[in-house]
Amino acid sequence: MSKILIRGAKVLGGEPQDVLIDGETIAEIGGGLPAEGAEVVEADGRVLLPGLVDLHTHLREPGREDSETVLTGTRAAASGGYTAVFAMANTFPVADTAGVVEQVYRLGREHGYCDVQPIGAVTVGLEGRKLAELGAMHESAAGVTVFSDDGKCVDDAVIMRRALEYVKAFGGVVAQHAQEPRLTEGAQMNEGVVSAELGLGGWPAVAEESIIARDVLLAEHVGSRVHICHLSTAGSVEIVRWAKSRGIDVTAEVTPHHLLLTEELVRSYNPVYKVNPPLRTERDVLALREALADGTIDIVATDHAPHPHEDKDCEWAAAAMGMVGLETALSVVQQTMVETGLLDWAGVADRMSRKPAEIGRAQGHGRPVSAGEPANLTLVDTAYRGEVDPAGFASRSRNTPYEGRELPGRVTHTWLRGRATLVDGKLA
Ligand SMILES: [Zn+2]
Repeated sequence: MSKILIRGAKVLGGEPQDVLIDGETIAEIGGGLPAEGAEVVEADGRVLLPGLVDLHTHLREPGREDSETVLTGTRAAASGGYTAVFAMANTFPVADTAGVVEQVYRLGREHGYCDVQPIGAVTVGLEGRKLAELGAMHESAAGVTVFSDDGKCVDDAVIMRRALEYVKAFGGVVAQHAQEPRLTEGAQMNEGVVSAELGLGGWPAVAEESIIARDVLLAEHVGSRVHICHLSTAGSVEIVRWAKSRGIDVTAEVTPHHLLLTEELVRSYNPVYKVNPPLRTERDVLALREALADGTIDIVATDHAPHPHEDKDCEWAAAAMGMVGLETALSVVQQTMVETGLLDWAGVADRMSRKPAEIGRAQGHGRPVSAGEPANLTLVDTAYRGEVDPAGFASRSRNTPYEGRELPGRVTHTWLRGRATLVDGKLA
């Protein structure tokens, strides 16, 4: 196997060091390591992080290959510095059987850009009525540990309780899309002053918060583990903080877009800003950033949601909800969390690699950058400044809210088990 010497990298943002990769593992870290027999990558003071792990990605295959495939989605992931992604279950057919999750898992392995860990549906067909084959999906080659009806809420409390009881047996977790369905009928954006002015149907904060409150109590009652997808309100943060202080086994994620963008953008009526949960207020954004910094929110997850032109280039009310995010996530986190002084790079590694891998039980990912560990790594040019140009995206879809916006930082290299998937910003 080949050797690679990464020279002068700031490991987790620390002092520059050399990192030697031998085969699939990190062999040595130190000053002035010999370059003999190794391919040399001059890091030149760039920041080296463990490969990022995304607990919430929509790869759309099977069924919606016009918006994304496992291949294009994992190429986008590698471009964004990711070495593992968890693929959501709302495909066609739904990932609610061992057969479908194994298919997605194998496609990820075959393409080789990024490990793909399928998420299994909680209920058959995401219909919320009957539990899917959770045990069979866990026992399958895909080894599913995370279950979610994401896109829909598991709103029936009895079904949610049974799912929590079931996954407890094998240390799995239910990832809840917290959205009370009756409270969000006809919802088009955050409910508040702006929705009233624009005359758009409101998605009230309480629709999210009431489900989170119920589910942390159910998790406590059952003694199981629950994960809350894409927290978007200040009130949700308070509930999760309370639950953690009470010892409830709850984890939570925030998306990059909820850390940066607010509902004010909806005034443009540009459907690129239409997303579920909706963009909220400045006060919510600031509360989410603080919660990510203090650990109340455990991780950043992209909710990468690719859609083809025809589903987004239309009037607001008819447009699909969602944004792509894999290729811009780290830049948004640099701007909102690092450059504001809320997190250092070690903190970013924790929230975007270590903890998501731990929540999803992703073997070999989210490990420390140290000798003997798998060489899943990403190198970031943090001094870079540039406008986002979706024309250069590896994703099949272009529905980014950041087109033309200047964001800091650029991933230049990604290694998956010692093999380069991204070199000088270009896919290998
Ligand atoms: Zn969701």
